[in-house]
Parts: sequence; C-alpha cells; structure tokens
Amino acid sequence: MSDDVVRIRGAGLSGLAAAIILAKAGKNVEVHDIREDSGARFDGDFQGLENWTSKQDFFDEMRDWGLDPQSFKSTEFRELSLIHPDDVVTTAKSHRIAYRIVERGTDEHCIDQGFKRMALDAGVTIHYKSKVDPSDCMIIAAGPKDTSAIAFGEVFKTSYPNHVAFQLNDKLAPGAYSYLIVIDGIGLICTCLWRKQKNSKRYLNETIAWYENAYPELDREPIKRVGGKGDFSIPSTYFANGQYFVGEAGGLQDFMWGFGMRYAVTSGVMAANSILSGSNYDSEIKKKLLPLIKLSATNRMLLDRVGDRGFKRLANYWMRHQKKNNGDGLVFMERIYRLGLIRRLLWPLTNRILLKKIKYSDGRTGRRMPFRKSLKRDQWEMSERAKEISSEWNEIRSSGGKVSFTESD
Ligand SMILES: Cc1cc2nc3c(=O)[nH]c(=O)nc-3n(C[C@H](O)[C@H](O)[C@H](O)COP(=O)(O)OP(=O)(O)OC[C@H]3O[C@@H](n4cnc5c(N)ncnc54)[C@H](O)[C@@H]3O)c2cc1C
Repeated sequence: MSDDVVRIRGAGLSGLAAAIILAKAGKNVEVHDIREDSGARFDGDFQGLENWTSKQDFFDEMRDWGLDPQSFKSTEFRELSLIHPDDVVTTAKSHRIAYRIVERGTDEHCIDQGFKRMALDAGVTIHYKSKVDPSDCMIIAAGPKDTSAIAFGEVFKTSYPNHVAFQLNDKLAPGAYSYLIVIDGIGLICTCLWRKQKNSKRYLNETIAWYENAYPELDREPIKRVGGKGDFSIPSTYFANGQYFVGEAGGLQDFMWGFGMRYAVTSGVMAANSILSGSNYDSEIKKKLLPLIKLSATNRMLLDRVGDRGFKRLANYWMRHQKKNNGDGLVFMERIYRLGLIRRLLWPLTNRILLKKIKYSDGRTGRRMPFRKSLKRDQWEMSERAKEISSEWNEIRSSGGKVSFTESD
C-alpha cells in the first residue's frame, strides 16, 4: 500500500462517503469499482433513508459531515400505509420526517450519482470497471458478499399519486415485508425474502397481484425488475491489517428490516475521520453502530419466530403506541431501536440462534446471519393472476425489459 494515495475498493455509498471526507481534507484518493458506474448495482430501485436510529435528522447529520443532501433527489414522508397480515390497513404517521425515499442507480438524480458528483468535485479519482487487489486498498467498501436475505421488485409507470405502503406478510414476504412506493409517476412493488426459496420469482408475482387487487387505480405499466441481496454479519473487528471495513462489506446492516444506507454513509465517514485523526475506528464503530446492529439482530431473531400472528400483534402494538404518543408513530420505531433490559438479556440467545461462526478470506473471524431455510408453509401454488403477471413480464423481458440482478446477485 502506497503512503500518499488512499485507495478505496467500491464506489457505492460507503466508499464515496469516505472518499469525499478524505479528499476535502486534502488526501489523494482513488476509488475503484468493478461495475461501470456508481449505483449500477441497483438500476432504478427506490430505497428508504430511515430517520429513527439517531436523534438527529439524517440530513442534518450529513450537513454536519460536509455532505450535501441536495446533491440528489429525495422525497420526504411523514406517514405510510401499514398493511397488516390480515389485509387491514392503518396509517403509521409522525409530525416529523419519518423517512425519505431516494432512487438508487445511474440516473443523474439518484443518490449514488449525487455522492459521485460530490466526490469528483472534492478531487477524488474514480476508476470504474476496475479490478483492484483488496490488499492494495485501505478502505474496503465493496458491498455485500454473501447472502443473508434478498429483495425483488418491479418498477413501473403509474398515474397513482406519491404513496408508500409497507406490508407485513409472511406468505408474500417470508419472514419479512413487501412494499409499494410511488414517486412522481414511477412505482415500485418489492418483496423481501428472509427465507431462501426455490422459485423466488413467484413471490414477486404474487405480491404484485396482491397490490393490484388492493390498489385498483394503480394502472401499472411494467418497465423493469430490480433487486439484490443483503449481507448481515458481525465481524470480530472492523479494522485489520491497516484496512477499514465499511458499509455492507463490514456487515454493517440493519438485521431487522435491511435499512443499510445510513450505516453505509455513517461508517464511511467514520473511517475517513479515523484516518484523518488517528482515532480508533474499530472501537468507535463498536460504540456507535454495533449496539444498534445487535439490537436489530435481536429484533430479527424475534421476527423470525412469530409468523403472521406475531406480525399482526406487532402492527396492532405499533398503532396503540402511536395513539398513546400523541399520534407520533415514529416514537415506536425509535423505541424498537433502543436497548432495554429485555433485549439486552436476549442478546446471548440471538447470538446463538441467529448467527453462525465464519472466517473471512482476509483471516478475520465473525458471526454471520445465514440465509434461513424455507419452511413448509412457503410451499404454495401461484394464483391465476400471479401466473398471468409472470407471463406478461416474460413477454416484456423478451422485448427488452431489463432485470438488474440474478438470483445469485
Ligand atoms: C433490493 C434492495 C433494497 C434495499 N432497500 C433499502 C432501503 O430501503 N433502505 C436502506 O437503507 N437500505 C436498503 N438496502 C440496503 C442498501 O442498499 C445497502 O445496505 C447499501 O447500499 C450498502 O452500501 P455499501 O456502500 O456498503 O454498498 P453499495 O452501495 O452496494 O456499494 C458497493 C460498491 O462496491 C462495488 N464492488 C463490488 N465488488 C467489488 C469489487 N470486487 N471491487 C470493486 N468494487 C466492487 C459495487 O459495484 C458497488 O458499487 C437495500 C438493498 C437491496 C439489495
């Protein structure tokens, strides 16, 4: 590793966040990405930037770090339609900004491109389609490696107004949730699978059929299908052999719902600051982010156990909690990410049941959440409408409809 260049592996959110801070401080920074552009991994996927794991609004936090949240398009939301597993729909809301929707991809308004522009303006050199030896890099920011969970979605044109719906449903989204997001005439229906399935595309087709029925005015015109994997792990150290592991390459992910973007940016900033100040990155991550991650892992361990009955209780509890807190549903989300005695006591159980020992190729050890096996209840036949949706998509695909992932991505 040469002394005067800071080399970063991965031009995603975590790698670019680190690059911007370092270049602004006068460092010579080179970022290498295996793909053709930042955001190419996602290609038009909407994602939510959460606003509940820290007291400070995430955009204020970004401004404090010198990152400009206006460099990409975002749409703020104070509410969502919460779809219970028995199809009851309630509204979770807050007077504060609960989350923002951003687009991932290579279009100018995407968050990845905003970070790329900030990096280039700061003087960072970015090499795309570039394979770099990890041992030549000081920061490893190459995103997920293994699979702990996957998500699939369809992007479509619609005349439906801006809207977000979040559905807890163990059949359509094994162990997890599905969602509908509409922003300015473009919609996304996505389902997340926290249990590994053979024909996983049937989950997306069935989920689309469900939303089509629940939202008859959706007038979907499919454009493309998107998706990818998440890698959830807890390494023994986030710094080894002079290398900083940031974002999902460091396993920094939200085990409960998969909201990894905020951890990616935060850890990138923390690695850069540690390089600049000589502070201890590993112990800072363990102080600031690891407690939240362990908490989300315990929440995940509990969610894995409950199925639709537990999801229903969770949805009801969220609504009761919102009522008690002057109609602020965000307090519930903040609460489930706050360490109390019960979840502190549950951690050894989470560690034993949810995580498996791993050895990384760089010699580090850690604990990782494996992709869970499917259950008997995951075997079901697609409905007639889901089969039609599948055939319609096959036709669109054969006439040029893009898929930005394979099931092994
Ligand atoms: C379908 C889906 C939906 C999601 N929804 C949300 C959401 O709503 N909210 C949220 O907060 N999070 C969400 N996430 C998680 C979030 O996208 C990630 O946690 C976040 O992007 C991680 O950032 P990163 O910088 O670690 O990785 P990335 O942003 O993925 O960047 C990694 C970069 O490294 C590059 N790379 C890979 N291998 C190499 C290599 N060998 N050499 C060089 N470069 C390499 C990749 O091309 C990529 O550009 C979602 C994830 C998926 C898959």
